Amino acid sequence: MEQHFDLVVVGAGIVGLAHALVAARLGKRVVVVDRDAQANGASVRNFGFVTVTGQARGEVWRRARRSAAVWNEIAGPAGIEIVQRGLTLVARRPEARTLLQAFLETEMAEGCTWHEAGQLANRLPGQGEVLGALTSSVDLRVDSRSAVPRLSAWLQAAYGVSFLRSVAVLAVETGRVETSAGALRADSVVVCPGDDLVTLFPDHFAKAEVTRCKLQMMRLADPGWRLPSAVMSDLGLVRYLGYAELPESAALRARLQAEQPAHLQHGIHLIVVQGADGSLVVGDSHHYAPTPDPFGREDVDALILEEFAKVFGQAPPPVLERWTGTYASAAGHSLVAAPMPHVRLVTVTSGTGASTAFGLAEEVVAGLFDLSPGVAA
Ligand SMILES: Cc1cc2nc3c(=O)[nH]c(=O)nc-3n(C[C@H](O)[C@H](O)[C@H](O)COP(=O)(O)OP(=O)(O)OC[C@H]3O[C@@H](n4cnc5c(N)ncnc54)[C@H](O)[C@@H]3O)c2cc1C
Repeated sequence: MEQHFDLVVVGAGIVGLAHALVAARLGKRVVVVDRDAQANGASVRNFGFVTVTGQARGEVWRRARRSAAVWNEIAGPAGIEIVQRGLTLVARRPEARTLLQAFLETEMAEGCTWHEAGQLANRLPGQGEVLGALTSSVDLRVDSRSAVPRLSAWLQAAYGVSFLRSVAVLAVETGRVETSAGALRADSVVVCPGDDLVTLFPDHFAKAEVTRCKLQMMRLADPGWRLPSAVMSDLGLVRYLGYAELPESAALRARLQAEQPAHLQHGIHLIVVQGADGSLVVGDSHHYAPTPDPFGREDVDALILEEFAKVFGQAPPPVLERWTGTYASAAGHSLVAAPMPHVRLVTVTSGTGASTAFGLAEEVVAGLFDLSPGVAA
């Protein structure tokens, strides 16, 4: 006999797990179905950097604030360590300083302060070419490789969420989900397939012009010092929309185009986070294609490490691991569609799923179960 659930979630990445959490907290009977044996997509390949500061103004920034609050709430019960708190966003050029000071005048700068270079010793060991930095207290970092499996295990143990692993979802219709292991019956279905744009509802992805973005990442050996918070630099200011959409970004972009054209060409910006074992996760680059090639380019990694050396004033420690990851990419924060009654398709299209999934899932679940705003929070 077909099993019946209140909600079937397709995809056990962070976006699917966020929907499972919100629905389970409402007392719904939830099953999560994923074709992989364990989390293997963007959700475990990322920095685990829950970025609030610099997210696009308005609803995305609010989703990020809400998501950071949920990470803080669930970390203890789920056994997830918050490895770092806050952000140190280094200005290497006067144009970056001007942009950050304009940002500090906005409502998005809640929890942010400016520090001159001389005041950064306890936040930025081995300072390189640094004029100063914006610091924030709202951002946080989890180690995704352990956090995502722990979140799944806790959803199962604490809320009775079921997981079907190594099972592909082949088709979805209202009330019924066809899988490689048989059919499931469900009142509602949320499809969170990450960057699989062709298996389920491909017409919606095509209409929204969703493509894929490939990123190169590295893990470096423990440098012997500790970073209390994530570190970024000038290059991030022209990618994160909370800064990039301010008029002061134009002067910085022009200077970067003149001084670091190869970095801009490969979509490189610097993010450095540190794990409990001292190793650093460092990235990244952005290359777009429907099927990006799987190959990591040495010249791209070298450009990322060159920026590391400029910020920290020292050669990077040895590279321990390299990997690539991909995510769905399109204009706008996310694709949320209702392809049929009681079915939602949800994909974050801006590379910010770890930072925004919980806030987004609360909105989607409230809509799906016809709840008044705030009830799913
Ligand atoms: C290298 C890298 C660094 C990043 N850094 C950050 C960061 O620091 N902070 C941040 O906020 N965001 C970051 N992102 C973006 C973030 O990781 C993604 O937005 C997020 O993980 C997307 O989550 P997801 O659940 O949609 O996708 P995924 O994690 O890819 O999960 C989708 C799941 O759906 C399953 N699936 C798909 N189709 C089917 C099907 N038909 N049947 C069964 N299962 C199916 C897949 O097997 C997969 O497990 C980064 C991304 C990358 C690649």
